[in-house]
Amino acid sequence: MTDPRVERYRQATEAMQEGQFDVPIPIGEPDEVSRLGVALKRLAETLETRTEQAARLAAITEKVNQGLVLEDVLDLVYESFRSLFPYDRIGLSLMAQEGHIVRAHWARSEAREIKLRAGYAATLGGSSLEKIIKTGQPRILNDLEDYLEKHPQSDSTRKIVAEGMRSSLTCPLIALGKPFGFLFFSSMEKNAYNEVHQGFFREIAGQLSVILEKSRLYQDLLTATERLQEAKVALEHQATRDSLTELWNRRSVLDLLKREMARASREERPLTAVMVDIDHFKRINDEVGHLVGDEVLRELTRRVGSCLRSADILGRLGGEEFLIVLYPGDEQTAWEVMERAREACAARPVKTENGELVVTVSLGAAVVDRVNGLDIPTVLRSADSALYRAKNEGRNRSIIESVA
Ligand code: GH3
Ligand code: MG
Ligand code: MG
Repeated sequence: MTDPRVERYRQATEAMQEGQFDVPIPIGEPDEVSRLGVALKRLAETLETRTEQAARLAAITEKVNQGLVLEDVLDLVYESFRSLFPYDRIGLSLMAQEGHIVRAHWARSEAREIKLRAGYAATLGGSSLEKIIKTGQPRILNDLEDYLEKHPQSDSTRKIVAEGMRSSLTCPLIALGKPFGFLFFSSMEKNAYNEVHQGFFREIAGQLSVILEKSRLYQDLLTATERLQEAKVALEHQATRDSLTELWNRRSVLDLLKREMARASREERPLTAVMVDIDHFKRINDEVGHLVGDEVLRELTRRVGSCLRSADILGRLGGEEFLIVLYPGDEQTAWEVMERAREACAARPVKTENGELVVTVSLGAAVVDRVNGLDIPTVLRSADSALYRAKNEGRNRSIIESVA
């Protein structure tokens, strides 16, 4: 008569083939059949773990294909395998400077404080990581305190031990045949890692490398896009700003005047264009030199700018001549702003390396009640003529002309 356990074992293997691993496997009396049962039980457990690992890895791969950044992938790795493997910390380091340096890139830990943080860098040459690269095999250190005692020069071990870690398993990351970094699994327990863990990591390191490399490339792509965006912003800034004063340049301030005139025309509200010109600036330059003159010019634009509301526009028309656009800006507003700006310049001397200088400005404004149909040259001519009068009448003053 056949042992009934044999039939149960057959059923169990069939169930496992269907992906079901929690089937009952009776062991019974210790004999040859029971030994087979024990082996089968172990196989069921291994297969269950492997299947779960594979599923989690597949989930990660899918997330990466959706365009996840490296940090998100690592978070996912941390969370996915935590119930399957012993670790309290995972760290990722990447090689830099053609493999001369290893730099910590990311770490996540259950410890209260991470002492070996992102950015921490060490030379690869002469370090124990070099051997891992040569062999391509994961390395287990099951007593980090003991290791530190024998290798007191290892600063990274000291930091990890200070974090509370006692064992570590280090995996090389290899993509396209080239090592590019390390994944560090650490545990607060001594002797946390064995052959099984090593085997598993050896198996998945390759796959993880591809994933990481892929998401690293994606990260690089993101960084490159960001740089491009920054370059674009910088170029725009260059094209629209005056390099000495950082104010709008002539073209931009005239564009903005045009925009505000169109708005004033639509909304039927008054607009003011003010021309500001530094008094006797030629003389100041002659006295203190062009460079100090530049400093004076910058200081005066700061003072004038501080008298404006954030919506007001201030640009450099050229030389020591500026344009303010006030919208909405009636005569009352214009007068207040102009006098405030004039006062701000004249009230106290400008400190320069050649001593203190009293510098004043003259201002001429065109207040346009109804912009309808008016063009820019007409408005600028009117402001210029007011400025001319301010100069003629003794400088350091404001004159307003109304444009009908
Ligand atoms: P006014 O009161 O009639 O305006 O006299 P002014 O000397 O200021 O006028 P003018 O137009 O004769 O001279 C302007 C001077 O401004 C000439 C030039 O040396 C100086 N200037 C123009 N642009 C700059 C600049 O970017 N930096 C410096 N330091 N000086 C400048
Ligand atoms: Mg001048
Ligand atoms: Mg001038």
